[in-house]
Amino acid sequence: MFEGLIEQFQLIKRKALGYGRITTSELDGVLRDIRISLLEADVNYKVVKEFIEGVRTKCLKIDLSKSLKPGELVIKAVYEELISILGTNPHHIQFTKDDISVISLIGLQGVGKTTTAAKLAVRYKSKNPLLVPADAKRPAAVQQLKILAERVHIPFFPLQDNSARETVKEAKEYAHKKSYGLIIIDTAGRLHIDADLVRELVEIDRSVQTTYRLLVADGMTGQDAVKQAEMFKDKVGLQGAILTKMDGDARGGAALSIVRATDVPIFFICTSEQLDGIEVFYPDRMAQRILGMGDVASLVEKVKGIEEKIDHENLRKKVMKGELDLEDFLTQLRAVKGLGPIRKLASMIPGVKESDIDEKEFKRVEAIIQSMTKRERRKPDIIDGARKRRIAAGSGTTVADVNQLLKQFFYARDLLKKAGQGNLSDSIPFRL
Ligand code: GDP
Repeated sequence: MFEGLIEQFQLIKRKALGYGRITTSELDGVLRDIRISLLEADVNYKVVKEFIEGVRTKCLKIDLSKSLKPGELVIKAVYEELISILGTNPHHIQFTKDDISVISLIGLQGVGKTTTAAKLAVRYKSKNPLLVPADAKRPAAVQQLKILAERVHIPFFPLQDNSARETVKEAKEYAHKKSYGLIIIDTAGRLHIDADLVRELVEIDRSVQTTYRLLVADGMTGQDAVKQAEMFKDKVGLQGAILTKMDGDARGGAALSIVRATDVPIFFICTSEQLDGIEVFYPDRMAQRILGMGDVASLVEKVKGIEEKIDHENLRKKVMKGELDLEDFLTQLRAVKGLGPIRKLASMIPGVKESDIDEKEFKRVEAIIQSMTKRERRKPDIIDGARKRRIAAGSGTTVADVNQLLKQFFYARDLLKKAGQGNLSDSIPFRL
């Protein structure tokens, strides 16, 4: 996410931190570089202007000439201003206590509305959601929602009388009868915002009194997403936005402009086609990512999810006895893979770029271990030359790949055993 912008900000950060003194001319230089990077990332020009002015005002208040670390103060000002344009506080869905909550997803065709409807239903499964299609002109869109609903075992309410208004009205009555707590409406997707679409959205809103009208916008389209937010806000009213496809080469323009330019807060960002690929949007974490400070908080949240899946006590005993086997290794690898693409995870670690990580390497290791018999995984020491050739052929790799994996595994097993017994220093050939 935002690779280009992150790279540029890294350079700017390094340059700012390198200054022993920052006078107005150095500050102007830094601000000029920031302006160019933001414009290249397709951030709205008015937002860029306000951003630069905001950072300049903050810096001038500090009196950089007297500071021993003026660069740090400039970066701090940039960080605070980033949070301020991204929206300061995260926005969470507040569920209606005594009535059914209704979320209506609004947006143009292809932005990811249907996928997002299913993602929200999965996220709020505990609220007993009902997925409702409201695109009478595109049977394929209705069918797609039905398929996704079936895949994630969420109830689906079929289209009624070929009318969006009738469908949502009847869905609400049905939801009352069956005690559903949340209705998610996938409204019509069109190529442009036109009078018919606006009328239909307003009718839907009148029929069911939506709790949230959320714009779904494609994060890769930058300024177009901002324009859509402006138009939909003006015509039908919006409480918030969801930016999709942020895993692609989204340059950042939409995320960095939408809140300040339109006053529509971002509730969620979507980072994969998979149905768990949706995250609450935290402005501070996003600002940290952009400034290359990583996103440790999000990473910790994700890791908590796998902690429960690992039998720590059993693992600890095996490590101590030097009995760690490739079966344990595979379990750990899969648990980590369950968190999502490794590249994306790694980019949350400060200083690590997505492009540094070779996703194929993880796949190769998994393929090699999968080509072993259970006995070989439990007792890797029995893997001789003939076995290595068979494993390499089975996994589409080479004997050298198998050798490398085994070497690394034996080394790690020894190291962990020694660490567990407090003898780690024996195996480290030199000290720094
Ligand atoms: P709709 O026409 O607005 O309902 O859009 P869809 O839900 O049909 O999505 C259009 C395409 O975008 C599909 O191929 C989705 O799989 C894909 N898509 C949706 N959300 C995301 C996302 O967050 N990341 C990526 N990479 N693809 C997405």
